[in-house]
Amino acid sequence: MRAVAVHPDAIVVTSRIWQTNATALRAGGEVLLIDSPYFPDELEALPSLLRQAGFEPNALLATHADYDHVLGRVAFPDLALGVGDPTMERIRSEPGAAQRELREEDARNYVVRPAPLALGSVQSLPVPGYVELGAEELELHPADGHTSDGTALLAGFAGLLVCGDYLSSVEIPWISPGGSLQDYRATLARLAPLVERVETVVPGHGPTHPREVALRILGEDADYLDALERGEERPALPRERDTPRQREIHVENLTRLA
Ligand SMILES: [Zn+2]
Repeated sequence: MRAVAVHPDAIVVTSRIWQTNATALRAGGEVLLIDSPYFPDELEALPSLLRQAGFEPNALLATHADYDHVLGRVAFPDLALGVGDPTMERIRSEPGAAQRELREEDARNYVVRPAPLALGSVQSLPVPGYVELGAEELELHPADGHTSDGTALLAGFAGLLVCGDYLSSVEIPWISPGGSLQDYRATLARLAPLVERVETVVPGHGPTHPREVALRILGEDADYLDALERGEERPALPRERDTPRQREIHVENLTRLA
């Protein structure tokens, strides 16, 4: 697990697997933790790692309901998990899905957890909408297409956009079950002006980006969606993402659109 300060009031913690990012944001004595690292030892170490950096979360938010993003309560069991209303809808319509998928993924990786995942009390937030952190206002924007749900969070005071599973330099656009190519396109179009307003973009997986890099990736992702829509079997992928695993995701994308 790696921690990088991206702003005096924002720290990004990256898991050893899938480079999954969790972001702690601080304003006026309040701290919001967005998403989560994955492994049990990372979740156990997270509270003290954040405390040493001066971040003690009093609120949790998940960008979407995928099992690798909703583990915050494992580290902070006293806190409720905040989600955008589309994510609440997804959790209600697929009860136990995150728990089951986590169990399956753990079994694949021989990961043992001290306890099964419990989402606990989940609080729904309007998207689009605003949430307060200290005296600051955070914007919540819809970000669906990767899945049926998704929330991007813009923290103007920190020049930060935390966008969930978009704009990654390590993962191609992934139309996972419930996602859609059209919604993914609409989300990229919605994210573009948000990226223009910030200094730093934190994707769900992989390194954080300065604005210009995020805009470049956004263009690459729009090009990829064009190739996907044409049904190309071996599209050109951005060089850093042209890997066997990303080719597998492309094949999965093709079957989803078929
Ligand atoms: Zn993810």
